[in-house]
Amino acid sequence: MIKIKISKMLQRKILKGYPWVFSYQIKNQLPEGKSENMAVIYDHNNRFLAMGLWDPNANLCFRVLSLGKPRDINSQFFLKRLKSANLIRESLQNELTTGYRVINGENDGFPGLVLDRYEDTLVIKLYASSWFPLLAELSELFRKEFSSKQVVLRLAQNIIKSLEPNSVYQDGLILFGKEKSSWIEFKENGLRFLADVVKGQKTGFFLDQRNNRLKIREMAKKRSILNVFSYSGGFSVYAVAGGCRSLVEVDSNSFALETSLRNLKLNFPDKSFPASNFKQEKGDAFQILAKMKREKRYFDLVVLDPPAFARNKKQKKQALKAYFRLAKAGAEVASEILYAASCTRYVQANEFYDAVCLGIRSAGKKYERIVETGHARDHPAKFPEAFYLKSAYFNLVQHK
Ligand code: SAH
Repeated sequence: MIKIKISKMLQRKILKGYPWVFSYQIKNQLPEGKSENMAVIYDHNNRFLAMGLWDPNANLCFRVLSLGKPRDINSQFFLKRLKSANLIRESLQNELTTGYRVINGENDGFPGLVLDRYEDTLVIKLYASSWFPLLAELSELFRKEFSSKQVVLRLAQNIIKSLEPNSVYQDGLILFGKEKSSWIEFKENGLRFLADVVKGQKTGFFLDQRNNRLKIREMAKKRSILNVFSYSGGFSVYAVAGGCRSLVEVDSNSFALETSLRNLKLNFPDKSFPASNFKQEKGDAFQILAKMKREKRYFDLVVLDPPAFARNKKQKKQALKAYFRLAKAGAEVASEILYAASCTRYVQANEFYDAVCLGIRSAGKKYERIVETGHARDHPAKFPEAFYLKSAYFNLVQHK
């Protein structure tokens, strides 16, 4: 197995549970031409420190699988981890919620691997190609545990880019089962949703916002709601279920808007969509919000749940600016409540909240923060980089 050496400082960090080594942190010369997918770290006294997945072609080249003592990495090892992951989600598994995250990567002992369940379909999403040699075994293990009918493979952008032209792995590959349709229907808190598990964003649905959607349902009654970056209508369906007076969705993607419409019709077959109190607006959120302000169109509650604004550390400053501009634009058309979320992992919670608060003040409004929310139970986060989701609700009042 490949042996890697790292600084004492990083050794201490890893002993405390930090799961990553980047290529620039490796101190020793490595043998060339080896295609192993596992490596070992020894400490400065040449004692075994950790064993993990090895991906020499990636920046993030080592991900800790096992710490402290050497272990056989086999089905038993993974089954044990799967069982503990399952235990954490026990309270979620009921007939009202059949779509949730089963494995949240590093935080559940499967670094660089996510497993989402949608009814009897499982979606494995890989962020590290070092999982490929283990994929057949894992797919079978997962399938058996849940008696699933279908297992789908999804690949992160960095893996798609690095695939060999003749690779057997592709984004959307069906690992088990015969694909009838890539659309899977599942339930969340008793509401019905369709997710395209083969082509949809993430693994088909933004499962991480479940608890925030519940809050929006609680706040929706008789309110006019603007759902910006609505994707497949997660927040919209909850808003209608909560009895909102009217709803406007904004997204730049027609596929997202069509999917949202399907999800609304699925849940509320007696209502008509579009209707006088339901509208979709396709286009850039910043431009549409500015137009709404010019036209003096106001909403009781505004939801801002944008895509990640930074793909790397360098883009952090520009991401914070975008959060500020967005919060300002949202607050300008919001009369009672503003909900703002960030899924950018390079932006810290306090930096995000500061940007949003500044945005609200710049819109000429005072606010009272109602609550800050983060990761749901099925998205545990055990190290700082894993805390990507930040969100907060604000009660707004006009300045005199
Ligand atoms: N709130 C959603 C998830 C949002 S994902 C949910 O709960 O499911 C981000 C969405 O923003 C995507 O649907 C994408 O099409 C849309 N989007 C990205 N850039 C945009 C822009 N500039 N203006 C409007 N929509 C945008």
